Amino acid sequence: MAKLSASMTSKTASAVQEIYRPIIRGYFAVFAAYYLLLLPTNFFYFEGFDLWAVVGIASLTSVIAVVGFFRLREKTEIEMLERLLVVLNFLVVMNVVTTLNLMFEPEKMVYFVILVMLFALSSVSTRQSVLSIVFACLAFLTYVPRLETSDQATYGFLIFGAIMASLSITYYLRKAITYIATSKLDAEHQLEEARVVGESLRHKSLSDSLTGLPNRRAFFEALRKSKHDISRQAKESRDDPKAQVQNLWLILVDLDGFKAVNDVHGHLVGDLLLKEVSERLMAHCGDTAHVSRMGGDEFNIILKSSGDETEVRAWCDELLEELAKSYVIEGRYVRVSGSMGCKMMDLTQGARSQINEADYALMAAKKQGKNRTVIFTEVHARQADERYKVEQALRFASLPDEIELLYQPQVDLRHNRIVRAEALARWSSPIIGEVEPSKFIKVAEESGLITQITLTVVEQAFRTLSMWAAPVPIAINLSCHDLISDPSIDQIVEMAEEFEIDPALVEFEVTETAMMIDLDKATTNLKRLSEIGFSIALDDFGTGYSNFSYLRRLPIEKLKVDRSLMENSGDPMTEKVLFSLAGMARTLGVACLLEGIESEVDLLVAKRVGADAVQGFLFGQPMSADELTKALAKDAEKKVSPATATY
Ligand code: C2E
Ligand code: MG
Ligand code: MG
Repeated sequence: MAKLSASMTSKTASAVQEIYRPIIRGYFAVFAAYYLLLLPTNFFYFEGFDLWAVVGIASLTSVIAVVGFFRLREKTEIEMLERLLVVLNFLVVMNVVTTLNLMFEPEKMVYFVILVMLFALSSVSTRQSVLSIVFACLAFLTYVPRLETSDQATYGFLIFGAIMASLSITYYLRKAITYIATSKLDAEHQLEEARVVGESLRHKSLSDSLTGLPNRRAFFEALRKSKHDISRQAKESRDDPKAQVQNLWLILVDLDGFKAVNDVHGHLVGDLLLKEVSERLMAHCGDTAHVSRMGGDEFNIILKSSGDETEVRAWCDELLEELAKSYVIEGRYVRVSGSMGCKMMDLTQGARSQINEADYALMAAKKQGKNRTVIFTEVHARQADERYKVEQALRFASLPDEIELLYQPQVDLRHNRIVRAEALARWSSPIIGEVEPSKFIKVAEESGLITQITLTVVEQAFRTLSMWAAPVPIAINLSCHDLISDPSIDQIVEMAEEFEIDPALVEFEVTETAMMIDLDKATTNLKRLSEIGFSIALDDFGTGYSNFSYLRRLPIEKLKVDRSLMENSGDPMTEKVLFSLAGMARTLGVACLLEGIESEVDLLVAKRVGADAVQGFLFGQPMSADELTKALAKDAEKKVSPATATY
């Protein structure tokens, strides 16, 4: 506190002297001008030694006044102000003394009265004013004996009055100046405090509370600033060819497997992991790049680099290596990796569209297997454009009119008969024409439109099924969104009741990846469907986790081995893999269906590995309901033992 008040006092003193400085400077200017103008007039009144004495002291005074005037251009210590004033005032007194010595006139005693007032009014401190007034008074006193008695009293009262008046005026003047200085300081202090508070609020509003990294707002500010810097660099390089030109790279980072960490270890560990990830990001970015947290496990990096694409990729890959090293959080080892989408910014284009482009590259990195860097190219742009068109067309689609179902037969190998048909959606959009199922299903899943498609498919399939005289068991695909959405499951059940569908005729195909999104919820809904009497098949089997422990917990009755595993069916290794997958189905006590049977060789392999059923082009492409009934009729003509769909 003492320190603070001491610093305030010294600050006040310095503010006071700053207010005095221009006043004193004016005082010096007046004396410099006065004595310079007075110099020539001396030649009319004095001559010889007297003249040189008067001119000498006047010249010295004007030189000191000029020196003081220039010295006070800059900030001046109070002691220096005092010294300069004492010297000048002393010389001014000496000017009066010299003139009076050479030519005494009683009325000139009034000079001392004027000087006393001037000295008091121009003083910067009490000690300096007292000293200056003392000079003037002493000089005055030396001439008092030369005055007549009546004049002595007159000048005595005059000078006494001048001293009293000027001292009191000076006191109040200094008080007023000190008050102004303190108010100015207070205002400056408050301004500084407001600036500090403003700065900390600004910092808070621009940083992420969990990791301390710059947040989304700060990212956009940094991006704007970086774009500006690079544009300026580019302009400068036009004038100076040697100037270094940098490119601006936008790098989107998304953690792979973060959700699983949150699910398995809880949110506290998830938060601590994000903090550690942020530290690694900051350490790698250093001063070369700006990193911000956009939310969740998404981070954006702005990198200024004069390197080419290869160097930027290497920089990103090094960062990926860092991120993929294990983390020890609360005594547990945790591992995640990162996927990165990069885009070299085009400064003439808007930021938003380019962020989207970097995002497309990021999506590509995820699709290509994660833990990798993908740099945006026109291919991504085309894919993104196509994807966007599909999504838009889907949003405006009248699904019941545009979706059509085809049915692909599933054949039981024991009886060599069609025992079921998988309903496969076909979409013909009036805007963009026919779109491959794998494409529009994916877009629909990503944009949340899949549930409407599923309900349309289910409705059409149930309607067809209810119209068949001899109903064929069917299989319907469900996506991740359907599995975790209670309203979707409710509507499916309601539709089954509405069309009076025997649940034993319907099988739902689900994939492992879909269930993994929320295994608990998916399990509950699958159990609900199974309890009603629907059967469940695990689609795309062999491409996912194929984990025994959870497979046993689920009400699954069939494993559908993905057709990608049927490629190279002639290869002994492929056969071994298929054999072990079929064995797994047997161990679990469920049926095994092999997809993608296109040739006799495939069929032979399917029989050898012990599959129960097959599906593929060898037995029929996806076909209309009418074609399917014809195929079934042909099948019945084979007159073999009746087939059942009990596997
Ligand atoms: P999926 O459920 O595994 O369906 C089998 C896919 O394999 C079908 O492709 C079918 O035409 C194709 N396929 C069957 N046999 C052969 C073969 O011997 N060789 C080859 N190369 N392909 C064969 P499609 O109809 O293009 O469907 C692709 C995927 O789209 C489906 O894979 C399924 O995941 C999804 N899908 C199709 N319709 C629906 C639907 O209504 N709802 C949902 N959620 N997904 C659907
Ligand atoms: Mg399927
Ligand atoms: Mg499949």
